[in-house]
Amino acid sequence: MADLDDLLNELTAELDDDPDPRSPVRPLPSNIPSRFAPKEQIPVSALQKKCSPVFLSGSMTAVGLGSHSSPRSCDKLICLACDCRVVSFDNYQWTDDVDYLFLRNNYPDYSRLQCHLRPRRGSRAYACQCQHQSAIETRKVGVNLVSSGLKWTCTSHPIV
Ligand SMILES: [Zn+2]
Ligand SMILES: [Zn+2]
Repeated sequence: MADLDDLLNELTAELDDDPDPRSPVRPLPSNIPSRFAPKEQIPVSALQKKCSPVFLSGSMTAVGLGSHSSPRSCDKLICLACDCRVVSFDNYQWTDDVDYLFLRNNYPDYSRLQCHLRPRRGSRAYACQCQHQSAIETRKVGVNLVSSGLKWTCTSHPIV
């Protein structure tokens, strides 16, 4: 408990030093915990950022953190409806007869999903356990795709 004692001593010393003649306002007790906050901050290397907006793109577009100036295809999507990570398959598109039960029974195993995946150059096929989408051009999730009702959102990307 040496660290805690040090902190308490330091805290007491600080309070004893007060008031500082240059600052007539005494610090309130509620300000004290904030003095220790920097020690609990997340290291810079662990910072995460979410796509804004979230893009789905064809296989020719790079994956990663997307923004208006850099519309990359998000590869950290999660479905808010089924709580599953969204998987994607480059150069494939879904056949028209994919349904909820098929995804539920076969997600996320490619060898089981491939019977409804058709090779298509430049396309990227996305799926969670309840929804699917094929993309060739870059589109925003929840903006251009509102009518499709996609419940996919970015979970955030580590900032290098
Ligand atoms: Zn993202
Ligand atoms: Zn889902």
